[in-house]
Amino acid sequence: MPTATDLPTLVASAAPGARHAALLATPTDPATEVPAFALRGARPGPTLLVTAGVHGAEYASIEAAYRLAALDPALVAGTLVVLPIVNRPAYRVRAIYGNPIDGKNLNRQFPGDPAGSFAPRLAHWLTDGWVRHADAYLDLHGGDLNEALTPFVLHARGDERARVLAEAFGIPYVIASASAGHSYTAAAALGVPAVLAEAGGQGLFPERDVLTLVDGSRRAMRHLGMLEGAPTPRATVPVERFVVLTSEHEGRWYPRVGLEARVEVGQPLGEIRDLLGNVVQVVTATVSGTVLYYVATLAIDRGDPLVGIGATATPD
Ligand SMILES: [Zn+2]
Repeated sequence: MPTATDLPTLVASAAPGARHAALLATPTDPATEVPAFALRGARPGPTLLVTAGVHGAEYASIEAAYRLAALDPALVAGTLVVLPIVNRPAYRVRAIYGNPIDGKNLNRQFPGDPAGSFAPRLAHWLTDGWVRHADAYLDLHGGDLNEALTPFVLHARGDERARVLAEAFGIPYVIASASAGHSYTAAAALGVPAVLAEAGGQGLFPERDVLTLVDGSRRAMRHLGMLEGAPTPRATVPVERFVVLTSEHEGRWYPRVGLEARVEVGQPLGEIRDLLGNVVQVVTATVSGTVLYYVATLAIDRGDPLVGIGATATPD
């Protein structure tokens, strides 16, 4: 029988040096059951929260979260709490961006609203019941079913502890984001250092992408003193601005870009044809930088993202 609970309640159910697994009922309408794992290390240390499945079809991140939940508690100092599929309704129907109950993108709803519809309520439950009680927070994502993506990591701009945590993760592209409504920005507002790490896409979960997120999370745990050893420093590429180009039309999208391509302002990146075959939008780069993700499938709707460009400093 699932019970509504929060991070302290779940952790209290795990004995020191042991793992506790449970299905939690969310205070949403309808309620859903969210799988949860608490690993209590044999030694004291911080409490790290890891979530995945905020977007239900980002499978490399969901698989990575389950791998982390399978860590040996005897190796851990402190407490690791893992919620590998936060958005069960989205997972069940393989929803892109949204969920089948209210259609909203959960990662635009943070810190949430307990009186709102499904997604704002779920965001509030996560923020108030889980993120608030953690010493650090990793939200694992990837390209959605329709997106090709090269790994990157986001943190709230101006949050120095989150920036250091993002660099410890070891993914080269580190983005200081100023946009609101995300899991990591809600965490920043609570004083909890947080990163959103992305790897994988297009409905696949190759071992390379899963391990990018598992290894990055383990590096973050070493940085926090939860696993033995210090993370070896890796070169990172600070991204000054993340620009997402969007569609102005419903129709067919023909991308003409590749991952990690260097693009210049004004460069054509693809075109959209309407349902009668007319070219209605030639998409050009509005900023010079590196292509970090793009929609790789044909169907496109008005307002959809098309290409994400990380504006990086041009090498001399
Ligand atoms: Zn996502």
